[in-house]
Amino acid sequence: MNIILLGPPGAGKGTQASSLVARRGMVQLSTGDMLRAAVKAETPVGLQAKAVMASGALVSDPIVSALIGERLDQGDTGSGVIFDGFPRTAAQAEALDLLLAERGQQLDHVIELTVDEAVLTERIVGRYTCAQCGEGYHDRFKQPAVAGVCDVCGSTSFKRRPDDTAETIATRMSIYRGETAPILPFYVARGLVAQVDGMADIEQVTAAIGAVLDG
Ligand code: AMP
Repeated sequence: MNIILLGPPGAGKGTQASSLVARRGMVQLSTGDMLRAAVKAETPVGLQAKAVMASGALVSDPIVSALIGERLDQGDTGSGVIFDGFPRTAAQAEALDLLLAERGQQLDHVIELTVDEAVLTERIVGRYTCAQCGEGYHDRFKQPAVAGVCDVCGSTSFKRRPDDTAETIATRMSIYRGETAPILPFYVARGLVAQVDGMADIEQVTAAIGAVLDG
């Protein structure tokens, strides 16, 4: 089962993808995570992507499509893939069709997480993760049980994404509206899209996605 999680920044794609990984053994392919890892490792792709990402703009279609293609060839995606943050443009949607077809695979569902844009900025500027295990937290919605200590691994070191600022978010939202949302009709025409209310509690969203996948 291969699915796409589609929604604007802050809609909860990463959170829901992690939960699907834990519950269903699917593999999460997040181009944002891959690019952040490339920036950290200072690979040629990372060096190229760093400034683009910091501005909130999109990294080029060939770069991200190549990352996905290489990742699909690692041989661990048999129980299904969750595409998180990819595709983000019509060209990437076409590239994904090709990448899957070349591997004898197909898309099963596109889950559109619908959200109220007004609350997304608050969600995004407040979020941070454990620097050691990656567990997600939020200034208002999800603090660690003991202040400053990760619930999962006990680390006391946390980090925030450099592109989670109010200015960058405005750019990312407008790119979502202009470039990413227009690919939805393409999938609607193929009968693949299910809408899930991304404003509900995390567990309710997880349950709603589960119902789509099991339906
Ligand atoms: P994300 O973690 O999905 O919010 O992605 C963070 C940043 O990485 C984006 O704002 C883009 O600069 C870049 N990025 C991630 N995925 C893609 C993609 N599919 N196409 C182009 N740029 C991307």
